Amino acid sequence: MKILHISTECYPAAKAGGMGDVVGALPIYLPNEGVEGSVILPKYGTKWIKAQSFTTVNKGSIFLDKKEYIFRVQKLKAGILAFDFYVIDVPELFDRENIYLGKDGNAYEDEMERYLTFQLAVIEWLVKGRKKFDGLHCHDHMTALITFLIQFVPAYEKLKTLPTFFTIHNGMYRGVYDWDIISLLPSYNREFDGMLEWDEKINSLATALKCAWAVNTVSPSYMNEIALDSETLTSLYISERSKCIGILNGIDEQLWNPETDKYLQNKLVENDWQNFKKNNRDSLNKEIELDNSGPLMGFIGRLAHQKGADVLVTSIRRVIAKKDKVNFIILGSGDKTIEEQLLKLQEDFPKKVCTIIAYDEVYARRIYAACNFLLMPSRFEPCGLNQLYSYRYGTIPIVTKVGGLIDTVPDISNGGTGISTTNLNSKGFAKAIKRGLKLYKNKKKYTSLLNQIIKLDFSWRQSAKKYKEMYSLYIK
Ligand code: ADP
Repeated sequence: MKILHISTECYPAAKAGGMGDVVGALPIYLPNEGVEGSVILPKYGTKWIKAQSFTTVNKGSIFLDKKEYIFRVQKLKAGILAFDFYVIDVPELFDRENIYLGKDGNAYEDEMERYLTFQLAVIEWLVKGRKKFDGLHCHDHMTALITFLIQFVPAYEKLKTLPTFFTIHNGMYRGVYDWDIISLLPSYNREFDGMLEWDEKINSLATALKCAWAVNTVSPSYMNEIALDSETLTSLYISERSKCIGILNGIDEQLWNPETDKYLQNKLVENDWQNFKKNNRDSLNKEIELDNSGPLMGFIGRLAHQKGADVLVTSIRRVIAKKDKVNFIILGSGDKTIEEQLLKLQEDFPKKVCTIIAYDEVYARRIYAACNFLLMPSRFEPCGLNQLYSYRYGTIPIVTKVGGLIDTVPDISNGGTGISTTNLNSKGFAKAIKRGLKLYKNKKKYTSLLNQIIKLDFSWRQSAKKYKEMYSLYIK
């Protein structure tokens, strides 16, 4: 079974969040299930992509209205990744270091042209048929229109029977456009406008919900949540529910391995977790000049409403006001107001709070290894990978009870492996942090939980089986 993943992120080529991790890992674990996964991405100007050599396997051009874009399909030299990796090269649209955002932090103005050109170029390549796949797997709204185009554009008739699978990594982002962009699409029978439409606009996510053969979210609880409440999309989720499932993300245990992680100042040696945690905390606290007494709590992620980054600021303030021995490190970027609030927090408590406004893989890994607790005050969480990486590096998650966090972080009061709260306000989350402090003071209980979380298995093996089952519904 040969599946082509069509995506705008894939680690290590280009990653902005969890989707990059998933698309970079799934094709490594699927072959065990008899599925050969290839990936195709826009050819961005990321450092990783710039450093590779590619061979052109196909060329063509597409028109968005009257504007012609010449594209090349290129294949990565063998032996670099564990799977076949292709890119669509259109330098004027993709050769930029950032995946989605310009230097001013706003989405690129030609976002729609970029997504559409990418999708059309992939289809043009597939129509020529030199490389055959048994199914197409599209990820999030940026590639969602493919599920419509191959069914309803006569020029793509040849691909009509190719099963399409669609993964919702984040249902909040939907790719909504006014109808005037219709002139950019290849011609199709306008009788089928309804397949593109939701709330009188073109809605890419809704399109894939209608057109994809099977749809999945990245955790079962998130699937239940969005089918219960997705604003105006709820009724569509309900009507398409029978082809939707939730498949929990896994983590790549080779890539996230405390024994071999080259970014860590102190690797795990002979399973000595006490020293691993202590040494990494000592080294990081020294580097970022934090007081080294008391537990270290971290946050890694987009500074966004979804992630509860505003609640993070206010709950840390509450905890610090009580003069408990505890220090915080925050790594992330996003909302400018929250960035400023976090920098102010650091300014007010320079020995207790370190704020790093950046996207930085090295710091992220050091934080997972050094912290005693990881904070995730998310308002919603399609899966969340941070809590899984934190388990892997011996860090106890303190989370809100939403989406994938429900599936992966049961509360210690029920024999679970983290601290989980239904209260998403600063008082409620500060209380959860306090429970962490209390747990930390009880050395026996803390050590016993540490010993429990490091044994948890969230590898891709189980999830890869479920993806295979989903593909097998339509590919024999
Ligand atoms: P998202 O909703 O952002 O996709 P996930 O929890 O699914 O959230 O995945 C987040 C991924 O991005 C994790 O691998 C996490 O370590 C990484 N990440 C998030 N923010 C940063 C950052 N500022 N620097 C480095 N890595 C980050």
